Amino acid sequence: MRNIRPGLSEGAEMFQIHTSSVFDPKKKAFRKDLSFVVNSKTGLIMDIVSRLEPLPEKISPPDIDLRGLTVLPGLVDAHTHIFLHAYTETPSLNQMRDESFVERIVRATNHVRKALMAGYTTYRDLGTEGMEDADASFRDTINRGIIPGPRLFVATQILASSGGYEIRQENTGKTVVPLISDAADGPVGVRAAVRRRLGAGADVIKIYADYRRRQLRFPMQAWPGALPIQFPPTNRNPNILQFTQDEINATVSEAKAAQCPVAAHAGSDAAVIMAANAGVLTIEHGNEADHGGLAAMKANKVIFVPTLAAIEAIFRDGLPKCMQLTKRAYQMGIKLATGGDTGAFSHGENVRELELMLESGVPVEEVLTAATLHGWESCGGDWCGRRFGFWEKGATADIIGIKGDPRDDFQALRRVSFVMKDGKVYKRDGTAIEV
Ligand SMILES: [Zn+2]
Repeated sequence: MRNIRPGLSEGAEMFQIHTSSVFDPKKKAFRKDLSFVVNSKTGLIMDIVSRLEPLPEKISPPDIDLRGLTVLPGLVDAHTHIFLHAYTETPSLNQMRDESFVERIVRATNHVRKALMAGYTTYRDLGTEGMEDADASFRDTINRGIIPGPRLFVATQILASSGGYEIRQENTGKTVVPLISDAADGPVGVRAAVRRRLGAGADVIKIYADYRRRQLRFPMQAWPGALPIQFPPTNRNPNILQFTQDEINATVSEAKAAQCPVAAHAGSDAAVIMAANAGVLTIEHGNEADHGGLAAMKANKVIFVPTLAAIEAIFRDGLPKCMQLTKRAYQMGIKLATGGDTGAFSHGENVRELELMLESGVPVEEVLTAATLHGWESCGGDWCGRRFGFWEKGATADIIGIKGDPRDDFQALRRVSFVMKDGKVYKRDGTAIEV
């Protein structure tokens, strides 16, 4: 008798997954000896059973034996860019300006496969960076089963104010470069931009609350042989606000009316405060935030996505401050989600964000909750139309198994042995399954 529940084998589409150690994000604790009943047709968890009787040593198919592994809900990277690859390989300027549309699509196909094999079943992808609205169609190719990859929640183009986020070129008006933002101004203008994004298929609105947008005042050397500006000022290209409070309020109001979450890029304390008070769901980076920004995030129940892995990759000197800020946010009870700004460093290395959050002083169980349950909340929770990142009847069967116990050895998260998304197995015994 293979089933612990009589009659279960009669439903051909049902199977069980037996586990010995499971991380439960809602309890922020590990649980022993659970079995999941999964419906392969719907991709949902139909039941979760605490086993009282021992199982036979050998489990017969179609049931799956994950005893001996640590089992978690599929991981969520809450801040990614599928069309970007590591800046150490190619600077972002050249990726956006020089790489072909086709190359970037093909690269993204590789990126999402690597992410899935690393245990990431969901990506919140925050801006195409020059690829127009291609992320929406790319999402659909995964949802149609054409290529393997995480479930994508996409932003399409990001919202910035006029001139606020562009590929900087001195030969203005003479060379054509891709747009990297949907520029909008004024409360009416930003409402229209949100409507354009929704029309293009966005799952989430991404707005730049601030940016270093005065780059062409004292331009950097952007091509071989370009001469340097000889005596640059100390405030060469400061991080400054993009919008007024009214504009961000209008953005959030318009998005919320469509049950669409808003993610705000905000580096400075002023931008974090403005975005938090406007009611955005998440704040990305916050790398120059201080008391005011943290207090505003706390007061407005904002989820903080500190993107430590990208800061390590791009502004290494700023990492210690960002790690301290992350710890303070945790101590204040601000919800954290793990989003690496993955793409600035390699897809498949996503778990670096979890490692840095742990090193910041956030406990293991909190980091794992940030990477699962809070990831789902960052996608809009029930607004996204699917439940994942935690265990309950009717939740999506996104289930991963890792070798080792992350409480003893956090590197276990780099030893992903089993990956299931929507009830379908993509990796087993450490080996990718061809689809
Ligand atoms: Zn980003």
